[in-house]
Amino acid sequence: MRIVFIGPPGAGKGTQALRVASHLGVVHLSTGEVLRRSRANGEPIGVAAGKYLDDGRLVPDDMVCRLVAERLEQDDCRDGCVFDGFPRTRPQAETLDRLLEQSGAGVDAALDFVIPEEELLLRLAGRGRSDDAEATVRERLRHYAELTAPLAEYYEGRGLLSRIDAVGTPDAVFGRILAAIERGATRDHA
Ligand code: AMP
Repeated sequence: MRIVFIGPPGAGKGTQALRVASHLGVVHLSTGEVLRRSRANGEPIGVAAGKYLDDGRLVPDDMVCRLVAERLEQDDCRDGCVFDGFPRTRPQAETLDRLLEQSGAGVDAALDFVIPEEELLLRLAGRGRSDDAEATVRERLRHYAELTAPLAEYYEGRGLLSRIDAVGTPDAVFGRILAAIERGATRDHA
């Protein structure tokens, strides 16, 4: 199963993606984490991405897509993946479709985390990550609204989208996600 998580920074995607991946027994692929690790290891692509990470800007599509393509070639991704923070732009979504198609697969579901902006700002203020300073957060939210939010329509048009109310306890949100995945599976087999 291949599931795409869409949602603004601070919506709880990372926590939930990890939990859903472990529940389904598939890989959790967070491009943010892959980028931070690549940078920490001093790899050229990670170092080049560093200034974008610090400014809260999206890393260029070709860099991110290259990292995802490499990761998807590894054996553990064969049974599925929860994509956390990827795709974030339309070209990334199209690249993901192409990459999955090569192995006869495709995106099975896209979950859009819906959360009011005031709640996001509160959550991000308490997170303490280096790219969570207020100006950077606003920048990331702006890029999200402009470039990533429209992806919901990309997947909705193909009948793959479920909107998830991301306000509530982690357990409550997890329950909603499982129900949405279940509904998707039922719809496919109907
Ligand atoms: P995240 O951990 O998903 O919040 O991502 C942290 C940062 O990594 C983002 O603010 C971007 O700078 C970068 N990043 C992560 N995923 C992507 C992506 N799919 N496309 C472009 N930049 C990304």
